[in-house]
Amino acid sequence: MEHDINTPLPEDLPEVQQVYNLACPASPVHYQYDRVKTALTCSLGTLNLLNKAARDKARFFQASTSEIYGDPEVHPQTESYRGNVNTVGPRSCYDEGKRFAETLVTDFGVQHGLTTRIVRIFNTYGPRMHPDDGRVVSNFIVQALMGEDITIYGSGEQTRSFCFVDDLVEGFIRLMNTNDGIDGPVNIGNPQETTVNQLAEQILQMAGSRSRIVHHPLPVDDPRRRKPDISRALQQLNWSPQVPLQDGLARTIAYFMDEMSRSGRKSTNAFAS
Ligand code: UDP
Repeated sequence: MEHDINTPLPEDLPEVQQVYNLACPASPVHYQYDRVKTALTCSLGTLNLLNKAARDKARFFQASTSEIYGDPEVHPQTESYRGNVNTVGPRSCYDEGKRFAETLVTDFGVQHGLTTRIVRIFNTYGPRMHPDDGRVVSNFIVQALMGEDITIYGSGEQTRSFCFVDDLVEGFIRLMNTNDGIDGPVNIGNPQETTVNQLAEQILQMAGSRSRIVHHPLPVDDPRRRKPDISRALQQLNWSPQVPLQDGLARTIAYFMDEMSRSGRKSTNAFAS
C-alpha cells in the first residue's frame, strides 16, 4: 500500500514479522525541500511504525545514516564516534532527525521488548536511482551522458565512500535476520574513499563523455571527509562489500543509458552514439 507514515497506519493491516523503516528522503535536495516534514518523518513517522511492530511483536529495522556523524573529526568513522553535528543548519532536519530516531527505536525496543536493528548507511548508488535524485553519482552520470556540465560543489577535494546498492541490501538482510545479539548500530558502507574530483574524472572517462567540469559553491555543512570503519559488520555479520566502484559505476551508467533511450532523453556522449 502507499501510505504517509506521518499518519498512523490503518488498524486492519495484516500481521507482519519484520518492519524495515527506510521511509525518509535521503538526498540533501529532497530532504531539505520540506525540512519540518523530514524531521517529523524521522520522529512521528518512526513512532507510527514502531507502534505497528509492537502490536505484531515484529522485529524492527531502522535505516540510519552516516549523517549522524555530521562533519566528522574522527576518520574513519567507527560506531562509537558520537559525531559533530549542527543542530540548526540546513542538514539538521535529517541529521538530528535520524539521531533522534536511533534513540526512539532503541528506547522503544527496550520498553516494549522488541528486537531492534539500526544500520548506519554510508553513500550508496546503483541502478534505479532517479535521474533527478540530486546526489553526486546520479548527477554526474546523467550530466556526462547528456553532455551537460559536470557540477562539482566546492573544490571537489571532499571525500565520500560509495557502496553499490546490492552490497548494501545484503548487509540489511544479514543484520535483520541474524539471531546473534547485536549491540547498537552497525555501519554498512564501502570503505574505499574517493574525492569528488576523482569520481567526476572516473565517470567522464567511463561514459566516454566530453562534458566540461564546472565548480559551484559548496553547500553549508557539507562534510569534508567520510569513510566507514566496517569492522563491526565484518565481525558480527561476516559482511563486506563485494562490488568495486568501477564495476558498480559500469552497471549504473548502463542503467541510465537504457533509461534515457527509453524515455527519449537525448544522450550526446561519444560512447552512446
Ligand atoms: N556533490 C557535487 N556535485 C553534485 C552533487 C553533489 O559536487 O552535483 C558533492 C556534495 O557537495 C558532497 C558530495 O558530492 O560533497 C556527496 O553529495 P551527495 O549529495 O551525493 O551526498 P551527501 O554525502 O552529501 O549526503
